[in-house]
Amino acid sequence: MAINFIILFATSFLAGLSFFKIVRLDETKYKLLLAFSGSYLFAVTVVHLLPEIYHSSEENVHFIGIFVLIGFFLQLMLEYFTTGVEHGHLHAHAGHHHHHGGANGFFSLAMILSISFHALLEGMLLLNPVHAQAHEHTDSYSLLLGLVLHKIPESLAFVFALGEYSYNKTQKILLLLAFSLASPLGMLFSNFVFDLQVFSSNVFLALFAIVAGNFLYISTTIFFENSPDHKIRFNRLAFSLLGALLAWLSDFLMF
Ligand SMILES: [Zn+2]
Ligand SMILES: [Zn+2]
Repeated sequence: MAINFIILFATSFLAGLSFFKIVRLDETKYKLLLAFSGSYLFAVTVVHLLPEIYHSSEENVHFIGIFVLIGFFLQLMLEYFTTGVEHGHLHAHAGHHHHHGGANGFFSLAMILSISFHALLEGMLLLNPVHAQAHEHTDSYSLLLGLVLHKIPESLAFVFALGEYSYNKTQKILLLLAFSLASPLGMLFSNFVFDLQVFSSNVFLALFAIVAGNFLYISTTIFFENSPDHKIRFNRLAFSLLGALLAWLSDFLMF
């Protein structure tokens, strides 16, 4: 688990940090990265996460769908505050969010808190498989890889969004540090709570279903925003297919 903690933290922190060095982001390459990681996230949700949740919740299988829906709409509402950071959204000025005037205040704080809440929630997915035998969470490496790939554009977009406000560089790095700790801390938290054995495994299944709903919303939004004009771009399509294939393979090979 210590290794997962480090991998998750380092990916997020270094990806965000690299953004300070980038003079001009290559939008074409960024879109390919989004296509790949978004597609991996979508595929790992439908080939690994959802089947596992439904399979483990035999007697409550109809309730699980409700929690997936709750997660989907929770993410939709959270997006109003995060300005789309979790799906790698970079066009805060021209895009669909217009509620920041540059000064640090309610909206900068709301953005930071809501994206950190999102990161905490998705980190909770990484319940140690040894602890989680009760609900057949047999491996989490394909999920970990999915989170890592998802963290790269998310962290870039987070630093980009901070640029909309008047934080200085030290403040930005400290905020990035705090944000990068959210998912690893979520992982520790869910393992800690699981060990307390106060909640039944159904509570964790409901939580996983909510995160699966989050992922469905985030990944489909990435597909949509990557080609809002409905034109096929073969490079992006190829990267999307590659992402989905890798997700399926890593799950299939129990990697
Ligand atoms: Zn967006
Ligand atoms: Zn995320």
